[in-house]
Amino acid sequence: MKYHVIVFGCQMNISDSERVSAVLESVGYKNTSNINEADLIAVVMCSVRQSAVDRVFGLIEKFSALGGLSSGWKKPITILTGCILKKDKKLFINGFDYVLDIKNIKNLTKILGTKKTESVNNYLDIKPKYTSKFSANVPIMTGCNNFCSYCVVPYSREREISRPTKNIISEIKQLVTSGYKEIWLLGQNVNSYKNGKTNFPKLLKMVNNIPGDFWIRFTSSHPKDFNNDVIEAISTGNRITPYLNLPIQSGDNKVLQLMNRHYTVKDYKNKIIGLRKRIPDIALSTDIIVGFPGETKKQFENTAKLFRNIKYDAAYINKYSPRTGTVAAKLKDNISWDEKKRREKVLTDILKQTALKKNKTLLGKETIVLINESRGNNYFGKNKHYKTVRIKSKENILGKFVKVKITEVAPFTLRGKIFHE
Ligand code: SAM
Ligand code: SF4
Repeated sequence: MKYHVIVFGCQMNISDSERVSAVLESVGYKNTSNINEADLIAVVMCSVRQSAVDRVFGLIEKFSALGGLSSGWKKPITILTGCILKKDKKLFINGFDYVLDIKNIKNLTKILGTKKTESVNNYLDIKPKYTSKFSANVPIMTGCNNFCSYCVVPYSREREISRPTKNIISEIKQLVTSGYKEIWLLGQNVNSYKNGKTNFPKLLKMVNNIPGDFWIRFTSSHPKDFNNDVIEAISTGNRITPYLNLPIQSGDNKVLQLMNRHYTVKDYKNKIIGLRKRIPDIALSTDIIVGFPGETKKQFENTAKLFRNIKYDAAYINKYSPRTGTVAAKLKDNISWDEKKRREKVLTDILKQTALKKNKTLLGKETIVLINESRGNNYFGKNKHYKTVRIKSKENILGKFVKVKITEVAPFTLRGKIFHE
């Protein structure tokens, strides 16, 4: 019996799909990358933007077309899980054989008619089938208590639950022992991690104390909970990479208030000043929503000003998508799609300039790269600052740390040559 997994959305969803795979393999299914030969198709969906939800409707059509293609072809079992809104479940139940919350993914074994069930309290404690052999996603928490006015996550993933520290540490120790080079600590807001007396800065230190040759990365951080203790843990942790994604969402105080973000632009800037004082070479990225309901041109200009001022290395710029059930959905989505696209372009153009200027200072410098992709002799990887570096090599360097000298730069990619001392 073969299964095929389709994942939409963020790193947390990829991590969820690794648990779906583990449960399916525990009852005898084997993975196939060919959807046509699958006896079971599992879809791990995202509900953050309507476009992601629409892709699931597209898949339903594809599944029914697949059924009609070849004679004798047995329709596979279809399962939908991931980040699903209660109201959408009713819509999807007609398109899938089973729709189930990711938290209940272990029930798949019962659904599939096998007696075997995983004895775990929290689905995060299911031992995943890692997608990569050298970079692992390790969720430390799930859910969100923040209720940003535009966001569905508190509804689809419900309230925050932190994973027991001992389970996280034991998983990472096993990964490092088996040669993993990069550990991603994941959560919707890692800064609010709490298990007994262990908060996020303490957890970071504990992970950093695990012996081995590996890097620690984490995402996402909410600015309101990002504090000096986290800065201290990053600056003193030799394995914690100098890269931070700190989503601001808007550079305008009124919009931030309407978004229910609980910080001002000044609070955010002060955190960045403190961070750069302690870790001058830190690379920074952010998340932005353009075209939030009522966002005036002047308010948008404040975001553009913030971009010029902070000089980010990267940014995830999202066009506002109204989500039924959220507070912002009651506000009129009055910014046209074209205007949202224009605002996205303005920010991308600023970003390209600031990122390129920063990258030019790297020319001729050495950097360590963890290679994560290969296409023939071309290899791609990320350095500590999470910059993509392209390298040519005749030797297979996939999954290895390599020392590279930077020879060419663009806004979002660097080229380098393997450096031999
Ligand atoms: N927890 C993180 C934080 O607070 O920054 C972010 C997690 S959220 C799932 C990922 C990103 O999706 C957000 O940073 C936001 O920019 C974007 N996003 C969420 N809801 C959105 C919406 N309704 N329309 C457009 N983008 C949205
Ligand atoms: Fe969504 Fe806000 Fe929670 Fe991030 S912090 S997941 S944006 S509600």
